[in-house]
Amino acid sequence: MQPTFDNTWCEELPAFYTRLSPQPLEGAALFYHSAPLAATLELSPDWFTAENSALWSGEQLMPGMAPLAQVYSGHQFGAWAGQLGDGRGMLLGEQRASDGRKWDWHLKGAGLTPYSRMGDGRAVIRSTVREFLASEALHHLGVPTTRALTIVTSQQPVYRETAERGAMLLRVAESHVRFGHFEHFYYRQQPEQVQQLADYVIRHHWPHLQQEAERYALWFTDVVKRTARLIAQWQSIGFAHGVMNTDNMSILGLTLDFGPYGFMDDYQPDLICNHSDYQGRYAFDNQPVVGLWNLNRLAQALSGLMDATVLKAALAEYEPELMRCWGEKMRAKLGFMQAQKEDNALLTELLALMTQEGSDYTRTFRMLSLAGQQEALSPLRDEFIDRAAFDSWYQRYRARLLTEGISDDIRHQQMNQANPAIVLRNYLAQAAIEGAERDDPAPLARLHQALCQPYQLAADNADFARRPPDWGKALEVSCSS
Ligand code: AMP
Ligand code: MG
Repeated sequence: MQPTFDNTWCEELPAFYTRLSPQPLEGAALFYHSAPLAATLELSPDWFTAENSALWSGEQLMPGMAPLAQVYSGHQFGAWAGQLGDGRGMLLGEQRASDGRKWDWHLKGAGLTPYSRMGDGRAVIRSTVREFLASEALHHLGVPTTRALTIVTSQQPVYRETAERGAMLLRVAESHVRFGHFEHFYYRQQPEQVQQLADYVIRHHWPHLQQEAERYALWFTDVVKRTARLIAQWQSIGFAHGVMNTDNMSILGLTLDFGPYGFMDDYQPDLICNHSDYQGRYAFDNQPVVGLWNLNRLAQALSGLMDATVLKAALAEYEPELMRCWGEKMRAKLGFMQAQKEDNALLTELLALMTQEGSDYTRTFRMLSLAGQQEALSPLRDEFIDRAAFDSWYQRYRARLLTEGISDDIRHQQMNQANPAIVLRNYLAQAAIEGAERDDPAPLARLHQALCQPYQLAADNADFARRPPDWGKALEVSCSS
């Protein structure tokens, strides 16, 4: 069955975009697709063939599509940057699924737009594979994110630090509305457009609020809480976004725009994965603060719709929501089913020990459930140099576990659902990128499959759960995407 497309953005928000067509890439061919996402979108596997490449490169539009580039602005690294995009992404259409949900199909790397500034409108294989893998990995870890449907590769050279090959990513999300969309019209002193966009977003994504007298307050409060929960989830799995500019913040609370992101190897709370971030603004442990700073910029853009007291009351929900969600996630990682007073101290001490030891974040938590069964001989203890410090912490942890009255076996199973074995380490992504650059999708496919079941360790994916090699930890990720 052909997907059907709506164009609500195009029809309801005439001042918010430029109509245009994707520009072909030389020798564009479908390279890979996400079969699980295709199934969610009710797309037949027959569509994902080399013969149908033109559908995925935007050269052949599906009936009902009306491609356009959205306009938005934003704050970059804390400073107002004016109009930023969309410089290389085009909204092809909005798929209407049979359950009524609406999915934006957004082609990234589709060529120049009126908002391209100094850019070439293109994306490269490296950045496309990285975005594909990260968004699939986060989704299967239960973190809200945009998704990735297809990767198209080409023979066309695209110049970054060196010449690379052009590629396109078809990104799918219920909405691509960013904080920066609201800021764009606020700073242009067009309050009617700010309101029009707020009404549009509520109509399509918070329809239950439409009739409420306090709908803007209720909506903004939910945006605050969604953002808080998103960042709590990033912190719990060790994900650093790297470029939390306000144009990269989703109004739906999705992870959006994957550039120099990183999934932590060694636990390093001040990890900076963006090598252009000289001040560490987007360091891992700064993400909660930056999330609130970004929400304050959004609040300012919405100041024509609500009183300052209403906006402040909504913003005040951020910290408690983030702490509640983070506490819940971290308690599950530790295997605590109930909340107790000393939990926070136990967690803080473990994280301090891990910082001191440079422990691998993912592996340490994954092994924690084994430790309970094997006491002092646990494989986890083996990983610590300061055994005395580990033993002292572990005795208190073990005593705390025993207050729960749950068997070690059951706890082990539950903890394995909270502590992934496989995350997208940089060096794993690198192998998939190198495969893609020699037109071999096998390494990407194998890694993608493992990331779709991150909690399940088996003989055929155990290599992805290993401690990363030293060269892998030192890998520098280029910011130019
Ligand atoms: P980012 O910080 O990566 O989200 O990029 C900020 C803005 O720059 C986005 O709106 C992009 O559309 C735009 N941009 C990034 N790379 C390119 C490119 N190669 N060509 C045109 N625009 C780009
Ligand atoms: Mg961006």
